[in-house]
Amino acid sequence: MERAHPSAQNLYRLLMGPAAVTPDKPAVVQADENGVLEAISYRRLDLMARDYAAVLDGLGLDVGDRVVVEADTSAPAVAMLLACSVLGLPFIPVSPQTPDTRLRSILRTVEPALHARADGLDHRERAAAVGSARFGLGGLVVEQPPVRKDRRRRDVLATDPAYIIFTSGSTGRPKGVVMSHRAIVTFLRAMLDDGLAGPGDRVASTSPLQFDFALFGIGVALSSGATLVPVRREDLASPRRMIGFLRDAQVTQVHGVPSLWRPVLRHDPDLLAELEHLRSVVFAGEEFPTPELRRLQETLPSARLVNGYGATESMAASFTEVPHPLPAGQERLSIGHAHAGAEMTLVDEHGQVVTEPGLTGEIYLRSPALFTGYWDDPEATDAVLVPDPVEPRLGQRVLRTGDVARLGADGELYFLGRSDYQVQIHGNRVELGEIEGTLTRFPAVTAAAATLVPRAGGHVLVAAVVLDGARTQLDVGEALEFCARELPSYMVPRSIRTVPELPLTTNGKVDRALLTQELAAPRRTPAARQATNA
Ligand code: ADP
Repeated sequence: MERAHPSAQNLYRLLMGPAAVTPDKPAVVQADENGVLEAISYRRLDLMARDYAAVLDGLGLDVGDRVVVEADTSAPAVAMLLACSVLGLPFIPVSPQTPDTRLRSILRTVEPALHARADGLDHRERAAAVGSARFGLGGLVVEQPPVRKDRRRRDVLATDPAYIIFTSGSTGRPKGVVMSHRAIVTFLRAMLDDGLAGPGDRVASTSPLQFDFALFGIGVALSSGATLVPVRREDLASPRRMIGFLRDAQVTQVHGVPSLWRPVLRHDPDLLAELEHLRSVVFAGEEFPTPELRRLQETLPSARLVNGYGATESMAASFTEVPHPLPAGQERLSIGHAHAGAEMTLVDEHGQVVTEPGLTGEIYLRSPALFTGYWDDPEATDAVLVPDPVEPRLGQRVLRTGDVARLGADGELYFLGRSDYQVQIHGNRVELGEIEGTLTRFPAVTAAAATLVPRAGGHVLVAAVVLDGARTQLDVGEALEFCARELPSYMVPRSIRTVPELPLTTNGKVDRALLTQELAAPRRTPAARQATNA
């Protein structure tokens, strides 16, 4: 690594800090190919990262050259991200499940120097213009070297990009979010200040590597000197396997999207009692339907449940402990206040800051941990990195999140939905999230999603609901009457369909585009029974 000069704010330096202090402590506990748990110490992880970096450094790459890293979360994958970081090579994490077409589009878009794949993945056609390599516990092997270029850069600065994450599209068309070392390191230091995890923790990470929730888990675990426990996809396949793995790995903190918990809550909630080491559950990415959250509280009575809110453009904005028990009748979760060193402000449609409790507005985030910009898209960048509405003349740029929230009595925020989920019905502005929240208060409904679907003569409001494991039939008439009592008439769905589950994106969030398509289909399908009051 003789040519690497990473700044003090380099991701590698933060995450491998514990290697000097607790070198023998497990940095990663993971399942090997036979499912047997193995521990990789901080010292070994650091050596692996340095070995990989030495190989990469021999390839003649320049600071800023991109490396696509295709892997599930594992010690070698983490070592690869660290090796890229120390050399100033922005990494683009992609999951092995990424369809060929999407991967090709990412390769075409970011023109990486290298596509590095974890050992043992299924074969993929190589992209001709891109170097290729594979890596694992045995080392990093270059299969096809990238084209050598003249180096223009020497130092890796704090402002240099650490990674580019492509969003999954739940927030619009996928965008390449470029994050600097300074932003991600500042964010992770704030997590240390907030004490989200400590050296005694074993942090289970369940999201695919391409989702920044996985990087969050890696970052939080290693920067706190804790142990990262990546959970393999096959171990998430059934509630019994998932809980058995978390129990055997003695996990103390689990990170995952709300849908992670749905199968175990529906089919085998008693299994949760086996997680005797578990102290906290951090969920993020979308709203946790409150009926399911209540059940999780009941079945994990001694675990803190933490609502992480944020977007890839800032990694996260806030972490709010869910009150235990969640007060009866509370259907919107608090996303609280921003994490240490950041601030969330609500701004109304006239650009005015919302100060009166009960009123709603769009969330603007003021933070030193904001992304640099979207890859090759200055217009989209300027649309969300905007002058601070409080005092635009200062030139400070803040993140316009596109999320709508209500101001609480103590300045805390209650997430209501994305501004693009605000729809107009007969001239009235409607938050789809309000309808969904109402539906989840109807007995036996555990999750709900509402959308507008095209019908002759315009659009109509249609909802899908998931019922708890014990119930298979919804009394649609009663559910609609309930909505009519609770909501203005224009917010009452035209029809409600019971579905076994809501469709999910690759990152495990509700796939609203797909749901809208499914609900727009008028016929019954084997997977969905429809009843309607139309
Ligand atoms: P994508 O889903 O397209 O991959 P992101 O992961 O960046 O992109 O999605 C960020 C969005 O997810 C936020 O703007 C917000 O709408 C939603 N979100 C994230 N966390 C929460 C949460 N705790 N509660 C409600 N919504 C959330």
